[in-house]
Amino acid sequence: MEPRPDCQQSRSAKCAESCPLLLSGTNEQQPTYDGLMARARTARRELERERKKLDEAKWKLALLQPGYRRDRPIAVDSASQIEPHVRGMTCPTCDVSYRVLDHRATPEGRVVRAQCPQCGRTPEIHFVLRERLSS
Ligand SMILES: [Zn+2]
Repeated sequence: MEPRPDCQQSRSAKCAESCPLLLSGTNEQQPTYDGLMARARTARRELERERKKLDEAKWKLALLQPGYRRDRPIAVDSASQIEPHVRGMTCPTCDVSYRVLDHRATPEGRVVRAQCPQCGRTPEIHFVLRERLSS
């Protein structure tokens, strides 16, 4: 019979299990319910942290898109297109459609304060009217 290639590996794993040298010095005993729960909590917290980082990155990326900055407004033909346009946009982190909080005219154009109903972010979306661009 051929020697199994994983034989060495399984033997060392068994050794580690029963080796008093490896066991002493760690407080890793039989996992208790509390221990498992604590570990799950830590994992969940870490996951949450990573997810937040990802959300922030997505958000920063979105801010580079037209509309999120005053110097990069979205051009529309008429003011009546503005609010429907905002409702058609989605929050980059939640992928949920924005709500329109308020809509005001500025010297440069229009600004809509949008809100994501899920994460509660309230980005300002900048618009400029095309008629204004040509005049
Ligand atoms: Zn959101």
